Amino acid sequence: MTDRLDPIVERLRAAQSIVVFTGAGISAESGIPTFREAQTGLWARFSPEQLASPGAFREDPQRVWDWYAWRRQLCLEAEPNAGHQAVSALAVRTQAFTLITQNVDGLHQRAGNTDALELHGSIHGLRCFECERPGGNWPEPPGQVVTCECGGLMRPTIVWFGESLPVDVLQRAEAAASQAEVFISVGTSSQVYPAAELPFVAKRNGAYVIEVNPHETPLSRTADVCLQGAAGEWLPALVRALG
Ligand code: NAD
Repeated sequence: MTDRLDPIVERLRAAQSIVVFTGAGISAESGIPTFREAQTGLWARFSPEQLASPGAFREDPQRVWDWYAWRRQLCLEAEPNAGHQAVSALAVRTQAFTLITQNVDGLHQRAGNTDALELHGSIHGLRCFECERPGGNWPEPPGQVVTCECGGLMRPTIVWFGESLPVDVLQRAEAAASQAEVFISVGTSSQVYPAAELPFVAKRNGAYVIEVNPHETPLSRTADVCLQGAAGEWLPALVRALG
């Protein structure tokens, strides 16, 4: 393992700007299911689009609310794992570090990366589906869908299928990707666009691209190196090797 890391460690040591880009896989070891795995048990009969889209919310707001309330509880009960901790350690030792995440669980923030760029929003906030007014915290227990002053219904602050990413966050992510000397893509299937474009933006602009994933993805052929396996093993190994 260590020999394999030597050239990567050299790149990381020399790099002044590093981007880490994460997906659901980094939180899998904290017990938060990836999207595919989340379609189990009670929710197996619904597709992601039937639970995570504006159309789904319009059709059955209580169903969508209940699903997010369940998933949010999983996030609150989970703890950041060795992968999240390693990202945080890398941030501290890097001159220009950017963490871009597709995750909505808040685990990176709890591991210390409070300035993570959340491309797909956060499960912990609420806003009005109609007037977009921020809706404060989730009620405990979540119960019935909460109503806004305008009469609209509150929804989680998540970017759903068919919705645009927050423009300013995406622009900052693209700028960081295009300036990165090393770009590390962790635990993402590289299939959800426009986020999935970021490692390719980095590569086109000369970054050394590292992928950490147990499985092959559409990025694997383009990446300079693929570390096949779990984020919770490879990322701490990288940080240890940096010394
Ligand atoms: P995805 O579910 O499409 O893919 C997860 C990837 O992680 C897969 O390629 C899988 O091989 C890999 N993986 C699984 N275990 C791993 C591990 N231990 N270490 C490293 N990699 C591992 O996830 P995605 O690419 O993030 O896209 C799905 C969308 O769903 C995103 O938009 C995301 O916002 C959302 N989502 C978020 C969460 C979360 O916040 N934790 C969970 C599920 C889905």
